[in-house]
Amino acid sequence: MARVHNWQIGREMSYWYPESRPHRQFAAIFDINKCIACQTCTLACKTTWTSGKGQEYMLWNNVESKPYGFYPLAWDLKLLQMLGAQSWTKGAYTGQTIFESAPAGKRVLGWRPDETDYAYPNVGEDDCAGQIENGADLQVPHLAWFFYLARICNHCTYPACLASCPRGSIYKRPEDGIVLVDQSRCRGYRECVQACPYKKVFYNPMTGTSEKCIACFPKMEQGLQPQCFVNCIGKIRMAGWVSQPEDARPDNPIDYLVHVRKVALPLFPQFGLEPNVYYIPPIHAPMMFLQQMFGPGAEQAVRTYQSAPADPDLAGLLRLFGCTEKVIPRWKRVGDSIIGSREDGGEIVRVPMREPVYIRPAFDAKYQIARVNCP
Ligand code: SF4
Ligand code: SF4
Ligand code: SF4
Repeated sequence: MARVHNWQIGREMSYWYPESRPHRQFAAIFDINKCIACQTCTLACKTTWTSGKGQEYMLWNNVESKPYGFYPLAWDLKLLQMLGAQSWTKGAYTGQTIFESAPAGKRVLGWRPDETDYAYPNVGEDDCAGQIENGADLQVPHLAWFFYLARICNHCTYPACLASCPRGSIYKRPEDGIVLVDQSRCRGYRECVQACPYKKVFYNPMTGTSEKCIACFPKMEQGLQPQCFVNCIGKIRMAGWVSQPEDARPDNPIDYLVHVRKVALPLFPQFGLEPNVYYIPPIHAPMMFLQQMFGPGAEQAVRTYQSAPADPDLAGLLRLFGCTEKVIPRWKRVGDSIIGSREDGGEIVRVPMREPVYIRPAFDAKYQIARVNCP
């Protein structure tokens, strides 16, 4: 095992291969507060990449209702239990990662789902965590809560799938950090299925190989955001590039939200993979649950997000989500407009801080009609 630095857990850790970071790292931010669980993202991926034989059960993108929704069943609960105590001190994780707690003879602590664990795409959908009694619904946070967690492969900096593959069939592209399975090398041992804590590798029984989200790399190579991003009805997603904290650029929208404002957090950072999909946590769920899921920064992230109405930069940047198919590497606010630009400064998109409101007259003299949509 090599010693590598994982900034998300604030310390060095053991990993199967030495640290080797890509030229730039694919990353994404999902604003959970805006997801409506319409599953359009799920279908956008399904119809693009996994409509073949042997792929019927594969959901490279899925959306599950937390706390009771899972795909596959109990994917996170099982590993959290296996991992044992997880604690943080001053931003550093003091428990063990899944690499450090690997059993003898294994490279990663993991488990392999049964076929039946994939039987329900979102068992427990819309089940909330408690009964609404005696006005509990008027308190925030209240016991009756749930939120939607959209998930794709995290294109981790330290992928467990890659570390576990005995044939070296999984690789991380040096140009963009996207993690792919070489289909010609894979022999379907399913070590990766067992190792990925997020359960984002799927075995195809027809081809005898493992398959996973490819971050829509043919689109990303052209500067376009992936299918599940551009089809998102709630406009909760933004794709781009994340830097390490010391190299963060405030004019990079991903860096700004992850490193500068710290409002977007990794999913289960304690697993130790440095995942590169970041979440703006839901503001209405219990903090202990959010801290287990997103780490110790959850409380501050929620507070920062709640302050957005009085924070034109943050509120403005959030408006760039879902406004264009193009990847936005740079951004700035100019007065009441938010501008997304290319690396060379060329403008991609301009979004107003406030949508203009037009009120039409109640009676249209030209057509001699009364309108019903007037105040
Ligand atoms: S989320 Fe899973 S499949 Fe994706 S890179 Fe990380 S370990 Fe591999
Ligand atoms: S990024 Fe592309 S391949 Fe990955 S889940 Fe989204 S649509 Fe599917
Ligand atoms: S398309 Fe967007 S809003 Fe709809 S479920 Fe997917 S992430 Fe949520």
